Amino acid sequence: MRPWRIVRTRFGSIPVPDWEVECPFCGEIMILHDFRVDHQVRYKFRHLDVHLKCPHCGCWVTFGVPISEEEYVELRNSPLHNVIIKDEEVLEEIKRLYSTNADVAKRLREWGYW
Ligand SMILES: [Zn+2]
Repeated sequence: MRPWRIVRTRFGSIPVPDWEVECPFCGEIMILHDFRVDHQVRYKFRHLDVHLKCPHCGCWVTFGVPISEEEYVELRNSPLHNVIIKDEEVLEEIKRLYSTNADVAKRLREWGYW
C-alpha cells in the first residue's frame, strides 16, 4: 500500500503521509511546503512531487508518489496545487494533519501517561 493519502481540506486537496515524517537532522516533524502533479503521457504515468520542509532547521525533501487519474485531476484542480504554502490558517491545518500523532502523544504526556 502507498503510504500517502489525498485529503480534502477546506482550502483544497493536499497529499498527507500516513506516518510522521521526522527531519533526519533535528527530529522535528516535517510539513508540506508545496506539491505538483505531473502526467508523463508517453509512459502513461501520473505522479506527484511533494516537497516537505523542516520548520526548525530548513531541511527540504522531495517524495515522488504515483497517483491515479482521479487523484491527478483532484490535485491539479486544488487551489493549493503548485503554490508555496505560507498562509497561517492553511499552515495550521497542515500541521494538524501532519502531526496528529504527536499532538496525541503530547496530550498524553501532559496528562501524565508517561
Ligand atoms: Zn530539521
